Amino acid sequence: MARAWQFLCLADILNFAALRRHLGRTRADQLVIDVSVRIAEVLPAARVLIVGRSILELAFEGDTIDDLDAALVRLNDEFGAAFDLDGEAHQLKMLFAAAAAPVGNTEDVRLAEEAEAAMEQARIDQRTVVRDLSAGTPAFDRLTLSRELGPALANREMFLQYQPKVHVRRQQISSAEALVRWQHPTRGLVLPGDFITLAEEIGEIGPLTLWTLEQVIADQKVLARDGHDLTVFINISGQLLAERDFVQIACGMVEQSNAKIGFEITETAVIRDPEIAIRHLQQCADVGITIAIDDYGAGLSSLAYLKQLPARELKIDKMFVLQLTSSNRDPLIVRSTIDLAHALEMEVTAEGVETQAAMALLTVMGCDMVQGYLISRPISFDAFRQYLSDDKLKGTEEQKSTLFTRPASFWKSA
Ligand code: C2E
Ligand code: CA
Ligand code: CA
Repeated sequence: MARAWQFLCLADILNFAALRRHLGRTRADQLVIDVSVRIAEVLPAARVLIVGRSILELAFEGDTIDDLDAALVRLNDEFGAAFDLDGEAHQLKMLFAAAAAPVGNTEDVRLAEEAEAAMEQARIDQRTVVRDLSAGTPAFDRLTLSRELGPALANREMFLQYQPKVHVRRQQISSAEALVRWQHPTRGLVLPGDFITLAEEIGEIGPLTLWTLEQVIADQKVLARDGHDLTVFINISGQLLAERDFVQIACGMVEQSNAKIGFEITETAVIRDPEIAIRHLQQCADVGITIAIDDYGAGLSSLAYLKQLPARELKIDKMFVLQLTSSNRDPLIVRSTIDLAHALEMEVTAEGVETQAAMALLTVMGCDMVQGYLISRPISFDAFRQYLSDDKLKGTEEQKSTLFTRPASFWKSA
């Protein structure tokens, strides 16, 4: 029977360097294999992978999150006792960290990132750390994070990454989306999923968004000077769409700068107070801001309703796009959304395009723009400029076709 929870656990041999000094390099290099064998004995159902000289990854499932706790207790017990190495007893200092999520709720990449974040925390605390993704950010973390969020802007801990959107027929980068990240001094990289709601709750979303806008205006100008005068989109939280002061300041900044800026807004943002939202969006459109409807399909509203918004672009939620080639229902939804949006004179962007198969299907369906890991992950501004100038050099049609198949190594610098 299918299990309800998936776990990704990382194990690090903390005293590896000391053991290597004692055992010699060749023997020490075998150590991680010995450890993987021992883990496989303790947890026969786990898939154990060696991911570094002293680091292992364990993937397994369970019925409840208690199964993870039980597994961690068994592992800690097992390695608490001395470890036999060719007849010599050695004490391994093992550190464990894990991420847990209900099956089907979390993308593999997110689970891996959370397990790594848990390991970073475990190294600081010197104890096992588990991140339960079903519970959102744990209460303690939320409290601490919210205290740290205010000063984070002033401390220059926030930065932006850019992800290109590609126009399918023109085979050209048509615009980009700026996504905010928090480089936390001790926690490492914190993604917006963990702090945007928090920022909304504590009233920091306004300052954060105005800071983002200021950055993208400056960055858009740099791109334009490079010869890439493309629109840069930012995400606007629903709460801000209702705030007159925010809208006025933001519109003023864009109008004064003459930069090509777009706002991505979600349908739920409009539903809360349609009259005010529509009025404010119209003000934005009047100063030249392009409006895109984000996460379409994830909410409840119909396209007929969205017709009232001055939006030029509709972004189909990645939930539908990710399953495009594996589900029967999603291609129908995507197809009819594209047709309807076109009838309403909107361009359609598919987000979450990860495979060539999805790309091919979307092209046939007449989707206008695509965004996703297949084209590029979100990358630093410098890497994005590099990406654009690289793209400019590609002259021939044959070279253009390689746009979607860049090697992963290209992004290592990001
Ligand atoms: P979103 O606007 O739907 O942004 C797209 C998210 O999907 C990004 O996650 C991006 O990294 C991810 N993504 C892009 N391509 C792919 C793909 O091919 N496959 C998969 N599986 N995922 C892909 P990220 O950066 O973690 O952002 C999450 C959400 O946080 C955003 O969702 C947006 O709602 C919010 N957010 C990000 N920056 C800001 C901001 O400055 N202000 C506000 N209010 N919200 C923001
Ligand atoms: Ca977005
Ligand atoms: Ca989206």
